[in-house]
Amino acid sequence: MQDVSQLLSPHETGRRWVHAALEMLAQEAARSADTHLLKLDFPGFPGIDFYFKDESAHPSGSLKHRLARSLYLYALCNGRLREGQAVVDASSGSTAISEAWFARLLGLPFTAVMPACTAPRKIRDVQALGGRCDLVDDPAQVHARAAEHATRGACHLDQFGLAVQATDWRGNNNIAESIIQQMAREPRPVPAWIVCGAGTGGTSATIGRYLRYRRLDTRLCVAEPTGSGYVEGWRGRDRDAVARQPTLIEGIGRPRVEPGFLFDVVDEVIEVPDTTSIAAAWLLEELLGRRYGGSSGTNLVACLQLAAGMRDRGERGSIVSLLCDPGERYAETLFDPAWLAARGIDIGPAREALRHCLANGPHG
Ligand SMILES: *Cc1c(COP(=O)(O)O)cnc(C)c1O
Repeated sequence: MQDVSQLLSPHETGRRWVHAALEMLAQEAARSADTHLLKLDFPGFPGIDFYFKDESAHPSGSLKHRLARSLYLYALCNGRLREGQAVVDASSGSTAISEAWFARLLGLPFTAVMPACTAPRKIRDVQALGGRCDLVDDPAQVHARAAEHATRGACHLDQFGLAVQATDWRGNNNIAESIIQQMAREPRPVPAWIVCGAGTGGTSATIGRYLRYRRLDTRLCVAEPTGSGYVEGWRGRDRDAVARQPTLIEGIGRPRVEPGFLFDVVDEVIEVPDTTSIAAAWLLEELLGRRYGGSSGTNLVACLQLAAGMRDRGERGSIVSLLCDPGERYAETLFDPAWLAARGIDIGPAREALRHCLANGPHG
């Protein structure tokens, strides 16, 4: 029998590879289960149900698995990604790990452009997945360096530029649709609040849009490190705002307002000091028996602040938030007492205050 591929033009064989790549992504999605929605009850908050969606359960370990899948789908469907083409993105964290994971799945060479100061653990994680790390000394130069790779022919996935376009906010089991479906049989199925942090802004944009699309009364709270770009920008709707101070919490707390952050779908922004976020990350291990990263701690603190307000007003309801990535990624940083001590961070008092709040309520 004749091999029809010999009759195809290079353009058509290219199209075949795109179809095969899209099929590989569909198969990967079919093999993956949804992430768990874990329920927690705190004695200090009767009548308020807390839920945490464990996004560390994705095969590449964080909520960036969803973003990476969307960015590859978007590049493929836009005709920007071809067989054998190099792929690049600027990321120092969980996005690089998830993008490297999908590059390996699709058989593509991947490069993460990272600041040289990136945690060794993350560099090792990208390399273990077959990715390359291009380290630049000046963190402000990562975007320019990624663009350079693109001029030499690489496909730039561009997480910060494309997160919001690439994500299917109406459905396709995006994070918001998954949460609302998983809540369906709960006593208070429509959450009073959903709480998330903002890095690219993609997660908050997807949740905020989906809540309106489904005509739900749920409000969206963005939990951020004190003085981050989004904190400064949100109140005055100022897209040029910059952070008042840096943060130790990875994945959130951007120095500036990224293009994917949609001010108008966010109902509340809560600022959390780094020490409190880290204390809350340690507390999550006590509550759940597993470690999660700093941004999960930030989320927990914001949940408790919202719950305190509900309690004061005599409201009942559910609050849903996210566990964004696993604590193992921070074994040499946030979970290393010597690392904390070297930075003058004592999480003891905040941890005790949080424990007390869970047991006795905000004013107990
Ligand atoms: C990216 C990230 C976030 C924020 O999600 P976005 O959708 O990019 O706004 C929160 N926590 C961690 C650990 C992340 O990597």
